[in-house]
Amino acid sequence: MPESPATRVVTAGRPARTADAALSEPVTFASTYHAGGDVGYGRYGNPTWTALETVLGDLEGGRALTFGSGLAASSAVFSLLPEGAVVVAPDCAYLGVLDQLRERAAQGRLTLRQLPVTDTDGIAAAAKGAAMVWLETPTNPNLDVADVAAVARAARAAGALTVVDNTFATPLRQRPLEQGADIVVHSVTKLLSGHSDVVLGAVVTADDDANGRLDAHRRLHGAIPGPMEAYLALRGLRTLAVRLEKAEATATELASRLRAHRAVDVVRYPGFGTMCSIEVTGGAAGADAVVDAVELWVHSTSLGGVESSLERRRRWPTESPTVDESLIRLSVGIEDVDDLWADLSRALTTAS
Ligand SMILES: *Cc1c(COP(=O)(O)O)cnc(C)c1O
Repeated sequence: MPESPATRVVTAGRPARTADAALSEPVTFASTYHAGGDVGYGRYGNPTWTALETVLGDLEGGRALTFGSGLAASSAVFSLLPEGAVVVAPDCAYLGVLDQLRERAAQGRLTLRQLPVTDTDGIAAAAKGAAMVWLETPTNPNLDVADVAAVARAARAAGALTVVDNTFATPLRQRPLEQGADIVVHSVTKLLSGHSDVVLGAVVTADDDANGRLDAHRRLHGAIPGPMEAYLALRGLRTLAVRLEKAEATATELASRLRAHRAVDVVRYPGFGTMCSIEVTGGAAGADAVVDAVELWVHSTSLGGVESSLERRRRWPTESPTVDESLIRLSVGIEDVDDLWADLSRALTTAS
């Protein structure tokens, strides 16, 4: 019987079970290797990356390549595009990814068609003549959910690649390759690493041609992970299933309590995962007052750590205008739910 993903997250990518072998892949600091092997140089490969890539590939159902950040991973994927390509992308998604697309569009290197990820029919129509459909689901920070299978089907019929940024769902909640997507991208920085101490990215695909081109891109352009980062990410990944289960249960409970709070106008929670966004009374100023008033929650950008954190997303100048000025994105960690509620509900009441 195949092991479940919650088991594979623990068991995959381990050294062989031989006497006195370490249970965990050690961190290998090496810029170069003795000649005559398959790797040869530190920009081409590293055993610690390989262990992490084995786990990520196993979880997503493809072959993984790790990169120095999530944005290095998305940049590598965009390097697959021919000059002048049409790309269909969300009107709201992680702002750095959209900024990369806008930069290429401004350089005349691609044409961008942006639609809400929930507009399946619109995306299917826009995919005609496109080289790539980029999805992020649930989206950052509006938490809209796309129909990956339907979009991937339409994109394939149109001859376009489907890429899914799976950072928010993680492979324990959504496996886009099984739903017909061609490529999955991760900011490993977030839930996969889970401890707010690593910046790392990954691309996973079952398409050997795409994998080969992405590997060649990484070798040539050099956006490689550090061995220590790969080690930390793998260490964090081992506990993903329990962290996710705990934080998701807390997020579900907080979403329901937040719906009844008088300082909250809108609660955005997709029904799974550890992210929840709220729109508060009092606009941008009201939201800024909330993030200033919390004591247990951490006011910081990024997400997916064991520590619960929050921020008002529109404080970033290139955040999508579809994001409400008062939206606070909550990244729920693994602290006690009542402690988190006490701090957040007090901050909301004080600020409103
Ligand atoms: C953070 C994030 C990224 C970018 O990843 P970095 O590791 O910060 O480069 C991409 N997509 C999503 C959904 C993110 O949250």
